[in-house]
Amino acid sequence: MRRRADVLAASGVEIIDFGVGEPDFDVPPPIKEAAIKAIRDDKSHYVDPRGLLELRESIARHEAEQQGHAVDPDQIVVTPGTLGALSLITRAVLNPGDEVLIIEPRWGPYRNLVSLTGATPVGVPMSTQAGRFIIDAERIAAAITERTRAIILNTPWNPTGRVLSLQELNAVAELAERHDLWIISDEVYSKMVFTGADHVSIASLGVEVAKRTVIATSLSKSFAMTGWRLGYCVAPSELAAVLGRLNHYSTRCASSIVQHAAIVALDEGEPFVDDMRQEYSRRRDAIATGLNEIDSVVCPVPEGAFYAFPQIPDDWGGSEVVANYLLEESGVVVTPGSAYGSSSRNHLRLSFAASMPAIQEGLLRLQNSLPMQNNQS
Ligand code: PLP
Repeated sequence: MRRRADVLAASGVEIIDFGVGEPDFDVPPPIKEAAIKAIRDDKSHYVDPRGLLELRESIARHEAEQQGHAVDPDQIVVTPGTLGALSLITRAVLNPGDEVLIIEPRWGPYRNLVSLTGATPVGVPMSTQAGRFIIDAERIAAAITERTRAIILNTPWNPTGRVLSLQELNAVAELAERHDLWIISDEVYSKMVFTGADHVSIASLGVEVAKRTVIATSLSKSFAMTGWRLGYCVAPSELAAVLGRLNHYSTRCASSIVQHAAIVALDEGEPFVDDMRQEYSRRRDAIATGLNEIDSVVCPVPEGAFYAFPQIPDDWGGSEVVANYLLEESGVVVTPGSAYGSSSRNHLRLSFAASMPAIQEGLLRLQNSLPMQNNQS
């Protein structure tokens, strides 16, 4: 679809892109200045594979103050992005033959990250209520076998826009404790919560669950630093030591320059994050309202991340047909829900990491092209 959108754009069609999953903001100025200063100060050497101690201390303060999760710098390993963290974690924790529960709809790379270790990804669909996906503890329990080694969680959730409730988190924690599973918790959207509530990490729910949880996260989405590649894992100390050694043999260390800039991001960047969150919040209101005005489309108001995930009727031919139709008919790129597993084949993902004028224009086009009639499918 991306290639087709490029072809259409080259032929003069003005494309509205709701497909992109990365912030459209610039990196806040103090972070850029810190990177430039680090270059000028010749901070250009290898650093500890676990990450600069000063950065890990800053992350530990940040986890405690912002996420209510007290951790020691020894529990932290700095990586090139969340993907770098997930790659270390899956390699450290999984063995060939293990099974890993992946709750669906899910972000695409989880399955491959698991498969690359020789373990088997096992999709477990959430259940739906009025188009809204919720964790189904019974389905998860039914999918657990003696080979199950881990479960992957993501809150705020890409693509559903859900922020998992305490009840849902507790249900997963309870199952993980009962069946001795690792919880791999992807919290890359932790600063993108629009409900007024704080982000809750499953690791903060108690000592027992913290012992089996490993968090993967980054500055990519929160500080609009996707290309800078700076993430980290938070794990129980013994596992963190293994992750640090693995990092040594994988990438040696994340960029020293970016690590220095990340300290400034975490220590001084919060006002910029607040501004971005407010803007995302205005956009999500606009997009949810606009989508719900389309006959037969049901869009739960996104609670977090920057994705709307509306449900479309079963008889429109499936999300791929609809996404292709929208691209050809109206020049609007949306991601078909089928990309996130079969349970969301009648959903579309729309990223609102796009400007307000683009969102308004895109909504107008969608309202003019939908509802889709059966004969178009
Ligand atoms: N996890 C989820 C759920 C994502 O949506 C993304 C990016 O889209 C990532 C991880 C990758 O983040 P990073 O840039 O930190 O590797």
